[in-house]
Amino acid sequence: MKNRPFVLNFALIITTAVSTYFITPLISNVATAQQGAAAQGKADNEYQVSGALYMQRSAEYRALAYQAYNWAKLSLDADEKTSKKLPKIERKKPRAVVVDIDETVLDNSPQQAGLIKSRQPFSQANWYAWGEMRAAKAIPGAVDFLNYANKKGVKVFYVSNRDEVQKQATMDNLTKAGFPDVTADTVMLRHPNDVGKETRRNYIREKYRIAILMGDNLDDFSNVFELKSIADRYAETDKARAMFGAQYIALPNAMYGTWENALYEYKHLSDAQKAERRLEALELP
Ligand SMILES: [Mg+2]
Repeated sequence: MKNRPFVLNFALIITTAVSTYFITPLISNVATAQQGAAAQGKADNEYQVSGALYMQRSAEYRALAYQAYNWAKLSLDADEKTSKKLPKIERKKPRAVVVDIDETVLDNSPQQAGLIKSRQPFSQANWYAWGEMRAAKAIPGAVDFLNYANKKGVKVFYVSNRDEVQKQATMDNLTKAGFPDVTADTVMLRHPNDVGKETRRNYIREKYRIAILMGDNLDDFSNVFELKSIADRYAETDKARAMFGAQYIALPNAMYGTWENALYEYKHLSDAQKAERRLEALELP
């Protein structure tokens, strides 16, 4: 009788130990493996690794972002002087800076990195879920420049092709990251009828004079670049040459963009077809 509690306790200790050290890890390993298998997709997005790493791990990317925002400040200051020569109707309008959001003021590279790691294709559901996290960090230099513009009385507009359903989360994320004047009016997302951003830019132009446009995509500057072939994108960029570093300030984005869609001629292709197009597009000696 005296030994019984000891035997029971001993049995309990052994059972607990076996469960803790052998069975539980076994179950949890199986569960993790199952989750891993479910999360592991088949998308061919390995080619995006260097673009994402360039954004996340190269100080050169950071230098380029600072360069863009330093240049924006110089341009905004220069515009103040040159605007005196403008026709009165333009001169009297308050000034505005128009910035794109994704990969211009907010860094979504962790979302893209997650898709690469799990070999998942881009999906609206995944994109919305990332937006709901309100976790995107500011692009280096962006917060300082836009606060500088705001303090000078220049209106800041955030013109993005994010969907309207993402508005609150987008506003929360921008505010959390330290951006100024984030309101339902200044954050202009894509209306279902919008083709590009020109309608929204023209709406802003009714009341403001846009001094500077900033973006990682040529479509952030003008609709002359929209849905153009690679050759025509070059031609339009050459035509607008004097605008870059003046009214247009471009930021690098090697992860994705219209530059990539142009490679596929804006068609919906399979991963294999896209891979073929990318290789075909390489310029050889
Ligand atoms: Mg963008």
